[in-house]
Amino acid sequence: MTRLVIATHNPGKLREFRAILRPWADRLISLSEAAPGVPPPEERGDTYEANARLKAHAAAAATGLPALADDSGLEVDALGGEPGPRSARFAGEGASAAENNALLLERLRGVPWEARGARYVACLVLASPDGREAVAWGTCRGRILDTPRGEGGFGYDPLFYLPAFGRTFAELSPNVKNRVSHRARAARGLWLEIDAWLAT
Ligand code: IMP
Repeated sequence: MTRLVIATHNPGKLREFRAILRPWADRLISLSEAAPGVPPPEERGDTYEANARLKAHAAAAATGLPALADDSGLEVDALGGEPGPRSARFAGEGASAAENNALLLERLRGVPWEARGARYVACLVLASPDGREAVAWGTCRGRILDTPRGEGGFGYDPLFYLPAFGRTFAELSPNVKNRVSHRARAARGLWLEIDAWLAT
């Protein structure tokens, strides 16, 4: 039974991938289980795709198994698309989600509601140990609140509000987030590839 490595050290992403990829629940294995002690790749590309590709191929090479990696970020209209691929490090290397959220609120101080549009973007790369790959993208649009709301999700979710639901990603049930999120939409683009790659 072929297994699929989820190439992330981010517990929030791992939890979401386990929910999104439920049809393959018994095949999924985290990178820390598949290759204990292997550090994440140091190098950082400038784009989501370069980062996702780097993580997916490194994990596939380290484990000898197919691997799925995600690189994602928040793009805020009023900030010209920032923080983008630097979302995890917006407030500096090793910044916490609370620090990143505080900086985001500071940068958006005084920006009116109509101008607080944003989107999450995810690029997913599925890589095989022999170097094959498949790539898919997903986005999800919302608005940035001026105070955090909710306890769920991770990262910027308490500030990311979906008008269609009247809730932030941190207030939505995981079931709903994992149907409409950027990561869920990107995963749908890889559905047939994952099915084929795990068929044996
Ligand atoms: P990376 O893909 O590991 O470089 O980091 C992605 C970063 O983007 C996360 O650390 C979060 O700051 C942000 N991000 C991506 N997806 C989400 C999400 O679904 N919710 C909240 N923050 C997210």
